[in-house]
Amino acid sequence: MSSYDTALAADPEVASLIGQELNRQQTTLQLIASENFTSPAVLAASGSVLTNKYSEGYPGRRYYGGNQIIDEVEDLARTRATDLFGAEHANVQPHAGANANLAAYQALLEPGATILAMRLDHGGHLTHGSPASIVSKFWRFVSYGVTPESHDEANPGEVIDFDQVAHLAKTEKPALIVAGSTAYARVIDPRPFREIADSVGALFMFDAAHPAGLIAGGAHPSPVGIADVVTLTTHKTLRGPRGGAILCGRELAKKIDSAVFPGLQGGPLEHVIAAKAVAFAEAAKPEFRQYAAQIVVNAAALADALDGQGFRLVSGGTDNHMLLVDLRPFDADLTGKEAQEVLDRAGITCNRNTIPDDPRSPFLTSGLRLGTAAETTAGMGVAEMQVVADLIVRTLEARTDEGEIAAVRSEVGALCAAFPPYPDLVA
Ligand SMILES: *Cc1c(COP(=O)(O)O)cnc(C)c1O
Repeated sequence: MSSYDTALAADPEVASLIGQELNRQQTTLQLIASENFTSPAVLAASGSVLTNKYSEGYPGRRYYGGNQIIDEVEDLARTRATDLFGAEHANVQPHAGANANLAAYQALLEPGATILAMRLDHGGHLTHGSPASIVSKFWRFVSYGVTPESHDEANPGEVIDFDQVAHLAKTEKPALIVAGSTAYARVIDPRPFREIADSVGALFMFDAAHPAGLIAGGAHPSPVGIADVVTLTTHKTLRGPRGGAILCGRELAKKIDSAVFPGLQGGPLEHVIAAKAVAFAEAAKPEFRQYAAQIVVNAAALADALDGQGFRLVSGGTDNHMLLVDLRPFDADLTGKEAQEVLDRAGITCNRNTIPDDPRSPFLTSGLRLGTAAETTAGMGVAEMQVVADLIVRTLEARTDEGEIAAVRSEVGALCAAFPPYPDLVA
């Protein structure tokens, strides 16, 4: 029993909901690529009294009194972030990855400037130019995508089209080029982006929201020192609290800091910043390197197992923590939406996703995105990935067979019981 459960006895309604959600996380498979299980230490820091403190400004330059200890908290988080990533400067205040991106754009660009980023339907994030995002009101977005699918096994296509990036950089003259994606299963090498940016005098931002933990753990190349600015989330592969951070060189530190506060946010969430500090220290440990490597091994194992069952893997496989599965060769009538819903009923949590040039709408989709970061944290390995693939296949084959779905649900329960993410927490 953790202390917050005890304290929440005063509010049985909320306590019950938290208990139910803990139970859901403990008893169903979490395969959403942007999720993870934070450590109890991260949970404790983010549920601490630091939430009470107003600390607008930065360590040593606050607009409120009483920030001596808070300054130490934020300094610790900043130092741990710069040590972990080898960066000159870190801003740990962004409330989320989207805020980090918005602040970086605001720091680097004049209104109306052109940004070259990834197409949303090829895996770009809302903040990379969705008409529905506020970013599109301030800046002009031009987008690059992935190369077409190819049937050559050695070169399966659907990788970032650097010829297109270079061409658009020349013709559209962006002030900023953005690398990074929400649904790209391959390594994103920062160097060709840097070369293209330099060739047209553009700045280069690497949005590491997804691979931040893989970079910290040495499983993926680091963009730090190559990109002008690196933005990240702390809650995806990095396994910290929900939040964002920005890394940059000394020369941009002031601009980035003032773009976050007062440019975009008010008071920072110091309880979350303390939890970020905990996560940065955890990610600096040798065990985290093993963890990052295991995430990648597990994703490859899951991809291989699904590949053998009639699914097509976008880009032919994975180098990171996620796979994008094209459902059409498995069953031409199965949409991502239906797959997500039936898997949910079987206790397998994932999300539908467009595949490049998806003939279906983003609401229906032809793809599923699966990620291994969370269940790797829970201790699953290659053998379990084979079991997970089999459970996915059985569920998708038995879409109208409630008995079989219930049978899968109970096997999912047994598998999850052997790998509880929070063995010491009781719902
Ligand atoms: C998740 C994500 C973000 C935004 O993170 P939030 O914390 O949800 O705001 C930004 N960029 C990319 C590429 C992402 O995948």
